[in-house]
Amino acid sequence: MPRQRRTAVIGAGIAGLAMARELHREGIEVVVFEKGDDLGGTWNYDPRIDSDPTGLEPTREVVHSSVYLSLRTNLPRQIMGFVDYPFREDEDGDRRTFPGHKEVLRFVKEFAEEFGLRGLVRFGSEVVRVERVGTGLWLVEWKTKRSEEVLVSKEMFEAVVVCNGHFTQPRVPTIPGIEKWPGYQIHSHNYRVPETFRDKVVVIIGFAASAFDISRDVAKVAKEVHVASRSSEVMVMKVPNHDNIWQHKMVKYVTEESLVAFEDGSSIHADVMFYCTGYTYHFPFLETNGIVTIEDNRVGPLYKHVFPPSLAPSLSFIGLTEKDIIFQMTDLQCKWVARVLSGKVQLPSEKEMMASVEEYYQQMEKNGYPKHTTHHLHFKEVEYCNWLAAEAGLPPVEDWKERMYVESIKSVFSMKDNYRDQWDDAYWDAIIKEASLSKCR
Ligand code: FAD
Repeated sequence: MPRQRRTAVIGAGIAGLAMARELHREGIEVVVFEKGDDLGGTWNYDPRIDSDPTGLEPTREVVHSSVYLSLRTNLPRQIMGFVDYPFREDEDGDRRTFPGHKEVLRFVKEFAEEFGLRGLVRFGSEVVRVERVGTGLWLVEWKTKRSEEVLVSKEMFEAVVVCNGHFTQPRVPTIPGIEKWPGYQIHSHNYRVPETFRDKVVVIIGFAASAFDISRDVAKVAKEVHVASRSSEVMVMKVPNHDNIWQHKMVKYVTEESLVAFEDGSSIHADVMFYCTGYTYHFPFLETNGIVTIEDNRVGPLYKHVFPPSLAPSLSFIGLTEKDIIFQMTDLQCKWVARVLSGKVQLPSEKEMMASVEEYYQQMEKNGYPKHTTHHLHFKEVEYCNWLAAEAGLPPVEDWKERMYVESIKSVFSMKDNYRDQWDDAYWDAIIKEASLSKCR
């Protein structure tokens, strides 16, 4: 007899929606709490920004989305669908292989409509406290606003799935002298349009996809863009095919005369310090008496990045892993969690799950991976997805999806400006066609 657990899901981005679908499929009653007014999470472009553009001020007014106006996906749409619900082109939509953010939102909303998920969501409901009470129940407290009135409500659930996203709380490096540096500081979370940087000298810190894309976007109007990075791979140079972009080693220090000195020995006077330095996990509502902690961006202990062993299965986290085939992986995690909550799949004992977590940490240490990369999959993205798929009773990730993922990651790191538009669609169409034919044979 399956166990029916009334479950609260926090967040109606892709993780919360995929979770709601799977719980509903398993016949489990689900309530999705969403602090915003619509579905789609970070894909809901919002022209507003946080009241503190660096995102450091704890009492600032926070805007959830980190999407900027010109953003296009960095994975091809063929691997941005859910496991059993592909991201198809829409005749009236943005039909590019790497579409803009509006198209992703259109797809996410279509997914929600198709599976009747909207009705499961309580919009404008921000969860402010999640706490275990008695044996096996969770108290969920949330607030709603009606004009000036704030209403706080409480409800008990047997399980809670945290799907609140992890691209909203900026991580910012400490730079010697920054407290007296007179320029404007901003984190990529608060970037929307390049116009703010017209004729400015901008220093962008970061070496990942966002630093690459934003530096090109800002350079369209800025006087100069200087990209600084800690990465050992960085070459100090003027970037080819651009008149106004330079690449440097990390910023060494700044001064109150607006000087920015780089570790490569060069220095400039700049107007803007732009942090494309990633995000930290943040669960301000969660009270677990220290069972789940965040240390140096490690959320732990979590069995397979999802279940805290001593609170499993009633508490779980979806979508914490980074640098992977996000939609597929998220959907597979949801399928696994729903099967666990319905009693169809058993978790190992608490002791065994803890042992697995410890082993993972030891393996990371042995390989020299820093703690803050705990939820990066370290080139084992597909292995992880296949493990989840097996738990969910599904076949492994199709070979072509793995190949396409590897190829798209190579493209991102190729640092070619037009990698999205140089994608070989004909080649990949043929590969996908062949794969579907051999499936039918
Ligand atoms: P989110 O989309 O962040 O959704 C979380 C939801 O939880 C939000 O709706 C929020 O309002 C709600 N919420 C938060 N706290 C509370 C609370 N206390 N109470 C109630 N509701 C709450 N992925 C790709 O696959 N391809 C890409 O090209 C790509 N590009 C990206 C570009 C940028 C700039 C960013 C930031 C991310 C990108 N990603 C990309 C990753 C993207 O974040 C994921 O694809 C995915 O959308 C994350 O979904 P999520 O549901 O986990 O989180």
